[in-house]
Amino acid sequence: MKIISDKNKLTKIIQNETNLGFVPTMGAIHKGHISLIKRCIDECKKTVVSIYINKPQFNKKSDFNKYPRNLKNDISKLKKLKIDILYLPITKQIYSNTTSKKIKINSFEKKLCGKNRPGHFKAVIDIINRFIKIINPKKIYLGKKDMQQLILIKDFVKKNYPKIKIIGCKTIREKNGVPLSSRNFLLSLDEKKIASKIYNILKNKKNMLIKNKISFGEIKKIIIRVGIKKIDYIKVLDINKIIKPYKKENYYKIFIAYYLKSIRLIDNL
Ligand code: AMP
Repeated sequence: MKIISDKNKLTKIIQNETNLGFVPTMGAIHKGHISLIKRCIDECKKTVVSIYINKPQFNKKSDFNKYPRNLKNDISKLKKLKIDILYLPITKQIYSNTTSKKIKINSFEKKLCGKNRPGHFKAVIDIINRFIKIINPKKIYLGKKDMQQLILIKDFVKKNYPKIKIIGCKTIREKNGVPLSSRNFLLSLDEKKIASKIYNILKNKKNMLIKNKISFGEIKKIIIRVGIKKIDYIKVLDINKIIKPYKKENYYKIFIAYYLKSIRLIDNL
């Protein structure tokens, strides 16, 4: 495994690769990331993984500051997986020109997480765009855990880089149902138990919500009773009817974002 920080060196090494897979991450590597990486290794000739905590996509400085950082551990996990290149970008090189104003993204960015995190998805897509220019991968592997992000990136890449394929990978969960997330490193055991209860509530009530047999108000009350003080949103959306061309069949998903103390967690199922 080569560890590279200089973007020119990286471009040079990979410029002749025709089947390059890319897995962007913010580090604190867990089994969710690992499943993406394994799939990339399986399907591509060379695998590049990046670890970069992209400051502009954080709405609060405190959230950026407390985001888990675990580089030593991450490096040893990635070495074991035998990825080809770990890219640790240098901020000055990445943002040598200011945030691109030209980037156009689907208005779905304003829904769900976009309502509470203005500008978040623009910043996510901006960094992905910068990485694409440096790496020029054939495939990019992203998790369905961040479904809104996946949908928006897929749409952006389809319109701007039609040769690049976005591969959405299934959400990896703990045995208790909680989706693996770097932010889980910040949770206590009790908080993890609450997160597991939320997962079970959503799993059990999903069909009732879709069929309007329970109201969002009622489900919110149930969630608050297990110890949640703040729910950013809970919504059911047909994900086949978000980006045109729509698909005929319905594919409903529940989306949630809530706070456990100051940790914001998201899920969809
Ligand atoms: P992050 O480091 O949180 O930015 O995540 C990097 C990539 O891993 C994103 O494409 C995420 O959607 C994906 N990911 C994070 N958690 C999971 C999970 N539990 N299962 C599958 N993919 C995940």
